[in-house]
Amino acid sequence: MYPDRFEYHRAESVEGAVDLLQENPDAELVAGGHSLLPTMKSGLASPEALVDISAVDDLTGIDHDGDGTRVGAMTPYAAIADDDRLWDGVTVVAEAASRIGDRQVRNRGTIGGNIAHADPASDLPGAVLAADATVHVRGPDGERTVASEDFFQGMYATAAGDDEVVTAVDLPPARRRATRSSASPPG
Ligand SMILES: Cc1cc2nc3c(=O)[nH]c(=O)nc-3n(C[C@H](O)[C@H](O)[C@H](O)COP(=O)(O)OP(=O)(O)OC[C@H]3O[C@@H](n4cnc5c(N)ncnc54)[C@H](O)[C@@H]3O)c2cc1C
Repeated sequence: MYPDRFEYHRAESVEGAVDLLQENPDAELVAGGHSLLPTMKSGLASPEALVDISAVDDLTGIDHDGDGTRVGAMTPYAAIADDDRLWDGVTVVAEAASRIGDRQVRNRGTIGGNIAHADPASDLPGAVLAADATVHVRGPDGERTVASEDFFQGMYATAAGDDEVVTAVDLPPARRRATRSSASPPG
């Protein structure tokens, strides 16, 4: 099935993407397109416009430092699954990414798209929650951070607004998470 007609805009920057979302109130961001495009083809979604963020270089990459790891929203699962330091430090996210779909899906699907879509059947929301991650979101009023436990608000619902872009996910070092969980044992 073909999707309904839509306008296509390619953002060059995060600020540009936010501007395009504001100028096109019925627009949807498209990242890897592996959830959005099937939904459009099946007729379940018919946005009037798409804002493609795949060319925004700032959104892709994995940075490690003493405070943990920052994963850009457009980083594909394959890059996460190939990162040895993530396997050492935040195994739950690396392993979850390595098991998503097939190689084709892992080369295109993104961590930002996966968590922004918030499909209850998806692998990364649970892994990001288990990792005690923080989500960075940029909108017309600038950037804000949201704890992962507050980011996911239900099926296909998140704390990100319609005119906001998820820009990155911060993953704290495993030792800090271990200290937290041992401080509040279950029961
Ligand atoms: C054959 C197949 C197998 C799959 N298997 C699995 C699997 O095993 N496990 C799994 O978890 N998933 C699976 N998926 C889904 C896949 O992981 C998707 O890639 C993912 O759900 C969405 O990521 P995306 O980058 O493709 O986002 P898109 O499809 O581009 O976007 C999804 C939604 O998120 C929004 N969005 C995207 N990026 C951002 C952003 N940075 N900020 C704000 N909103 C944003 C879009 O507007 C859209 O509403 C599969 C998909 C296919 C086609």
